[in-house]
Amino acid sequence: MRRKRRRKSDKMVWVLCDFDGTAALQDVQNMLLDHFLGTSWRDVVNAVLAQGRKSATYMPLLYKDWPASREEMIQVIDEKAALDPHFPRFAQYCLEKGYHLEIVSDGLDIYIEHLLAKYNLEDIPYTSNRLVFEEGRARIESPFRSQSCGLCGNCKKQRVLAAREAQAQCVVYIGDGISDECPVGYSDIIFAKGSLLAYCRENNIEAVPFRDFSDVLALFPEALTRWLQSLSIQGS
Ligand SMILES: [Mg+2]
Ligand SMILES: [Zn+2]
Repeated sequence: MRRKRRRKSDKMVWVLCDFDGTAALQDVQNMLLDHFLGTSWRDVVNAVLAQGRKSATYMPLLYKDWPASREEMIQVIDEKAALDPHFPRFAQYCLEKGYHLEIVSDGLDIYIEHLLAKYNLEDIPYTSNRLVFEEGRARIESPFRSQSCGLCGNCKKQRVLAAREAQAQCVVYIGDGISDECPVGYSDIIFAKGSLLAYCRENNIEAVPFRDFSDVLALFPEALTRWLQSLSIQGS
């Protein structure tokens, strides 16, 4: 019998990065919800979270009677949203080092695509929920839901598993919120801020605290070196 050849990734380091509040300065989805719905949507989210459910449940509720067109949304995104000013430099760093960088978002395609293009970063792949406009109405599609999770609109853990499948040697995760809780337990190096950092501390998950991508850029090489050294110690 022929031995199956081990499929090796051309990218040994995978960097999975949250969008809202991480690659983007602010939570763009929350900003859009505030702008077009007022603040009452937060009660819907909190009621769902209190039941132990997450975005797979509340996303369709939030966009059920969505009042804005695609064009109106793009205008508000242009006026109010921006990427972390250091994120483009981090993307360049990953490119130069040959690391696979990918956005994993439980937000919406409309602003991720628009903002990445605005900063000439449209080559960065991403997964997210989709806001589909049809016959003057909007609806949510979540093509990356996972059966094993069932809670997230886009369960980001699946992209960590995809990295493992591609034989990545190191999976780095960067995030700040609830939707980042599923993937961090399976990642090798974690950069965390906001509620994700609190979650990591509560669950004894080692994480590097950061404020913005100037911190990530400064701390990334050492974190990676330390991880690779720990691998060679285990292997010897
Ligand atoms: Mg976030
Ligand atoms: Zn999940």
